[in-house]
Amino acid sequence: MKRVLLKLSGEALAGEKHTGFDEATCVQVAKQVKEVCDSGVQVGVVIGGGNFWRGRTSENIDRTKSDQIGMLATVMNCIYVSEIFRSVGMKTKVFTPFTMGPMAEMFTKDAAVECLEKGVVTFFAGGTGHPYFSTDTTTTLRAIEIEADVILLAKAVDGIYDSDPKLNPDAKKYDEISIQTVIDQKLGVMDLTASIMCMENKMPMMVFGLNEENSIVNTLKGKFSGTKVTV
Ligand code: UDP
Repeated sequence: MKRVLLKLSGEALAGEKHTGFDEATCVQVAKQVKEVCDSGVQVGVVIGGGNFWRGRTSENIDRTKSDQIGMLATVMNCIYVSEIFRSVGMKTKVFTPFTMGPMAEMFTKDAAVECLEKGVVTFFAGGTGHPYFSTDTTTTLRAIEIEADVILLAKAVDGIYDSDPKLNPDAKKYDEISIQTVIDQKLGVMDLTASIMCMENKMPMMVFGLNEENSIVNTLKGKFSGTKVTV
């Protein structure tokens, strides 16, 4: 594996608190990503925003404006996690699809690939820059653009199940599943727009639990215990 796109859910960063940041969780992720980078794998990162805000959070304000707040939440997350990554010895860069003045750099494919090739962990903050999209869509879009080998989807659950494991104790976990089946059975691993983009552009995915010990490193070392999504 030469280049991967790691998607971290905003909620997973919040740990038990479910909001804001849980520093211990972020440091744990940082140490794993450092190990992955040190082994020569190039890492891009997309982070959700659910630990602060979702477009659907308020019914009283305009959806476009609400989504803009969500996109800004992802910028805060990326700046924070990027700094935690630096604190354990990695080089990082935060890109956004809109101008953020001195806070981040404008995303272009060329600039991002240049960073990745230099071993800089490259954050894609601010979503796609458009309302009505999600950080799942951002993940597939950027993974395709930077020509990643695979998407690493680190979630609160440890893989893809045939039904919601929180609601159904008999839910069965898949070791491997095709993206077509994910779409046909409407399995809620990513939103539909993102899943269809993965299918059309043949972008495979590894889905695993962020809170499982050493799961990011294990996934890349072949000790994978989540669900592989084939295309
Ligand atoms: N968002 C957006 N466009 C994007 C990415 C994100 O409008 O391209 C907004 C949207 O409001 C979303 C929020 O940012 O609810 C946080 O993103 P995330 O994907 O974590 O949201 P979720 O899928 O959990 O709603």
